[in-house]
Formats: sequence, structure tokens, C-alpha cells
Amino acid sequence: MVRLRKLNKYYGAHHVLKNIDLDVSHGEVVVIIGASGSGKSTLIRCINGLEEFQQGQLRVDGHDLRPYGKATRALQTIRTEVGMVFQQFNLFPHLNVRDNITLAPTKVKGKSMAQAMEIAERLLDRVGIRDQADKYPSQLSGGQQQRVALARALAMEPRLMLFDEPTSALDPEMIGEVLDAMRELARDGMTMMIVTHEMGFAREVADRVIYIHQGEIVEQGRPDEVFDNPQNERTRSFLSRVL
Ligand code: ATP
Ligand code: MG
Repeated sequence: MVRLRKLNKYYGAHHVLKNIDLDVSHGEVVVIIGASGSGKSTLIRCINGLEEFQQGQLRVDGHDLRPYGKATRALQTIRTEVGMVFQQFNLFPHLNVRDNITLAPTKVKGKSMAQAMEIAERLLDRVGIRDQADKYPSQLSGGQQQRVALARALAMEPRLMLFDEPTSALDPEMIGEVLDAMRELARDGMTMMIVTHEMGFAREVADRVIYIHQGEIVEQGRPDEVFDNPQNERTRSFLSRVL
């Protein structure tokens, strides 16, 4: 589903991603961990073409993204096939929940309003907020807003879902409801790449955990391998600080 070969990314002279090789297969759940500034968000954002890279290969669902963010048909396709949920929910504040969810399917995917509404109702039910469809984002809790953001991404019928610290902006009592919705999505077989500091969740849901240090993948493996028996000194030191 995702294939990176020797991917390199710079911000000016700052080498942010270094020779990243990574394969994510269909239905796999990959959790990315690492210190602040290690390049986790940059990596995720390269995969849906939000950030350009300078060298290497990046293929998503059979479509090749070109270096330097070159506008190609593949880039357009990838953007409609890859869903993303951010730390800040990024909902459209002037649209109610239903309209937030139906906008892209009708405008980008050519669904009829009736089809899009049906999809929205089903997804709102799935993330447990069916009764909130007429509200505006400002009238919802953070946990509810993030579940709307998830439903909105899913309404595009993505082949891959990317998450960048989806629970970091939430009050502790709301983290669980968002993680529950993500857990269910994983159970349904969605391919997911998740940046998170929720190590308990990572241990439970991830097929693979990847540790990034200063723009390099220094360790990866099953959650029990990485958390219980890290091989790299840097992974050990990071985990001793966060676990
Ligand atoms: P955090 O855990 O704090 O979110 P991160 O692992 O997601 O960190 P990135 O946001 O990917 O880290 O940043 C990686 C490096 O790239 C950092 O050194 C950061 O300062 C730098 N960086 C990120 N975005 C930009 C930008 N738009 N312009 C210049 N440098 C940037
Ligand atoms: Mg980040």
C-alpha cells in the first residue's frame, strides 16, 4: 500500500528525513513514535503529498509521487485516496457536522447529496455521534469534534488513513472515545499509519511500531519487541522517558 525507498527531505539546509525505507502492507496498522522534532509529522505529511520531498521514491497504492511536489495526476489521486486526521481537528467552523462530512464526497467524488447524506449518517453512527449532525463544531466537545473529523475523512472512502497525534489536543476523559473509534477502524481492516504518544494504545493496536530518531528509522518491530526488548540504545532511552 505504501512504499518508500531512500526518501530524503530537507527544509533548506536542515536534513529532516534521512534515507527512509518503509513498506506498509494492506490492512496493516503502523504506529510511529519518536521525540519532538524527530520528523514524524513530516513523514506522514509526505505520504499524502502535503509536504514535498527532494530525493527517493514514494509510492502510495500504486501511484508514484514525484520529488519537489511536482503536480501530477498521481498527486491528485493520492489526495483523494488518503484520509488524514490532525491534532487540531480542522473542521470547517461555518458548516454543521453533516455538511462538514458531505462536502468533499459531493464536490470531489461526484456523489449525489442523497448518497453523501446516507454515508454521513452511517459514519456518524459508527463513531457514536449520530445525534450531533445538526450542530456546529464550536458546539461540540473536543472528542466529538475529532470523531467528526474521522467520519469526514472516512466519507471519502480512503484506502489509507494517516493520523498525526489525533488525541494530543484532547482532555484526558475524551481520549478514550477517539481511540475506541480508531480501534474499531483497525479491526475493520483499514490500513493505518498513526503518530501517537499513547503507548498503551500502540501496544494493543499496532502490527508494527517504528521508532524515528533525528529523521532516521532506527528501530521497528512488533509492539512487544519494541516496547519490551528494544535493541537500540536510543529507543531504550526514549522509552524510559515516555513509558
Ligand atoms: P512533534 O513530536 O513535536 O510533533 P515531529 O516528530 O512531528 O515533532 P516534525 O514536525 O516532522 O517533527 O519536524 C521535524 C523537523 O523539521 C523539526 O526540526 C522541525 O523544526 C522542522 N520543521 C518542521 N516543519 C518545518 C517547516 N515548515 N519549515 C522548516 N522546518 C520545519
Ligand atoms: Mg509532529
